[in-house]
Amino acid sequence: MQNAVTQDPSCLFCRIARREIPSAPVYEDAEFYAFRDRAPAAPTHVLVIPKKHIPRLSAASPEDAPLLARLFLVLAGIARGENANDYRLVVNNGAGAGQSVDHLHLHLLAGRSFTWPPG
Ligand code: AMP
Repeated sequence: MQNAVTQDPSCLFCRIARREIPSAPVYEDAEFYAFRDRAPAAPTHVLVIPKKHIPRLSAASPEDAPLLARLFLVLAGIARGENANDYRLVVNNGAGAGQSVDHLHLHLLAGRSFTWPPG
């Protein structure tokens, strides 16, 4: 099920979810797609996106609340599938925070130790 929801034709991650641009898939259902980051920052680095085009977390609306809740459950399932017990989730919201692709995505990072505070 690849084309079930609202998408932006010019968005990189919408195009990846539509398989117009190749990626290394990890998980897919009607609402979400997960694929490996092309520049991994950890031995396991998976990006999880809603297929619905939400540009960033701060653009989500109250009607997105169930979707966002399911996103976290999907993420936890992906982490289990990657045999990751300890992991870090990152959401960069806005260019100043490091967001480079304007489509909400969660980074799932695992396989190494992490420091705090993050850089
Ligand atoms: P952010 O900087 O939080 O917006 O994260 C965007 C992430 O997307 C970066 O970690 C990039 O390495 C990753 N990325 C960009 N283009 C691709 C692609 N075509 N396939 C896989 N990962 C990508």
